[in-house]
Amino acid sequence: MHPNDLPAHSVETSTAITVAEGDGIGPEIMQATLRILDAAGAKLDIQQVEIGERSYLAGVKTGMPEAAWTSLRDTRVFLKAPITTPCGGGFKSLNVTTRKALGLYANVRPCVAYAPFVPTRHPGMDVVVIRENEEDLYAGIEHRQTHDVVQCLKLITRPGCERIVRYAFEYARRHGRKKVTCMIKDNIMKLTDGLFRQVFDEIGAQYGDLERDTMIIDIGAAMLADRPELFDVIVTPNLYGDIVSDITAQIAGSVGMAGSANIGDQCAMFEAIHGSAPPLAAKDVANPSGLIHGAILMLLHIGQAEVAARIHNAWLSTIERGIHTRDIFGPKSSRKLVGTQAFADAVVGRLGHKPEELTSVRYESVPTLPRSPATRLMPLIPIAHKQLVGTDLFLHWRGHDIGALATRLEQTQQGSGLALEVITNRGVRVWPNGFPETFCVDHWRCRFRGEHPDATAPADLQRRVIEAGLDVVKSENLYLFDGEPGFSAVHG
Ligand code: NAD
Repeated sequence: MHPNDLPAHSVETSTAITVAEGDGIGPEIMQATLRILDAAGAKLDIQQVEIGERSYLAGVKTGMPEAAWTSLRDTRVFLKAPITTPCGGGFKSLNVTTRKALGLYANVRPCVAYAPFVPTRHPGMDVVVIRENEEDLYAGIEHRQTHDVVQCLKLITRPGCERIVRYAFEYARRHGRKKVTCMIKDNIMKLTDGLFRQVFDEIGAQYGDLERDTMIIDIGAAMLADRPELFDVIVTPNLYGDIVSDITAQIAGSVGMAGSANIGDQCAMFEAIHGSAPPLAAKDVANPSGLIHGAILMLLHIGQAEVAARIHNAWLSTIERGIHTRDIFGPKSSRKLVGTQAFADAVVGRLGHKPEELTSVRYESVPTLPRSPATRLMPLIPIAHKQLVGTDLFLHWRGHDIGALATRLEQTQQGSGLALEVITNRGVRVWPNGFPETFCVDHWRCRFRGEHPDATAPADLQRRVIEAGLDVVKSENLYLFDGEPGFSAVHG
């Protein structure tokens, strides 16, 4: 019997999925992937939706028509090709919007080297990056506050950290991994990244069977690029995860090879990690492997493990036979240069085969990606006692005499229960005892503290400062939580 004639699946019923073919190289890599899924016997009931650039140009300002949301809420499984996101203006990133709107908090990006068949300097690497997917600078909360200054809010939440960190440890355990490395920058961002590390330590302590390790992101990324074999599972906030997963995919062989699963409690989205590569579009040169791997992760998620293994082994066998697209073609390791569709044909032709030298895969017929065990658990720490101790007022002020500004503020504060403690510019103290050398912009943080200020004191003070003719662009109250400051100290 020809391998392709083997019964491909034991799954009786089809699973409804939503498919978007995306922009740029999206349509051609999606076509290649769907042909492989079909030939392998995946039981799928496909709802095709159009999102992204074409939708935007057709007048849907968000790039995401209502019909697409309806389908997603119906199927709860999304196989998505890359979308072009306009830089600077235009519609917001649909990837970010979809991840956040559907609560897809965990982005799982396995990156494996296929040496010696795909050229790489890191033949031993097998790393999974688990990236927090909803928070951090990707909350998309940005403001222009003054003539000189724009800001982006970095939001890190305890429930968000607990979910992603627990997910990473559960993932490591279920996949027989040995170590989880946390990458953060808590030497600088002591509260935000500090919280991520703290939760990592708290939850990690519950997984005594797994080794754990924490690295500052800069040296962590450098070590990852140089010696990826030292890493196993990495868990990290959104922005760092975005960057390190591209590094990881690229040094494994090509950014075109890695797939990604975006997992939430109720929905999941599967994609390639790369973008829409506009210069390669409609040339039949793109590597469809990233999306194929995304589709394999999807099959595992919906319980079609046998089909997933069939495709994965056929793909490994194709790679091993040196049938390669341009991005991974090497004169020593490749035998045949193929385009996108011919690569898919080769995979289809190898269905039923296993690799001979690369390790073949076997998947169990249970979803291998747990659905948010963390959200069902009790919070790790009791609710803290919160005590108001002051307020930071941010002013738009174009003057130069900082002493005079301080005097004006001190006149307004009388009787408010709050007293001016320090003025900073871009986080550096400029009053009292500032340095004339410090470069200043038109954005001043004025910190007021009090012994036991009334709850209305910050608003009262803000009103007085505005009435004194100063331009308050923002305020942040200062609290102690169980006696610990919930705000950063002033440097300088
Ligand atoms: P990109 O990933 O599209 O391309 C980066 C490099 O990798 C390019 O040299 C490209 O030719 C190459 N490459 C990417 N995929 C490949 C493949 N399958 N085969 C062979 N080579 C491949 O990144 P970019 O150029 O920064 O972004 C292009 C667009 O994609 C932007 O609009 C960006 O916002 C968007 N994007 C979308 C997603 C997504 O939909 N999930 C992710 C990243 C970027």
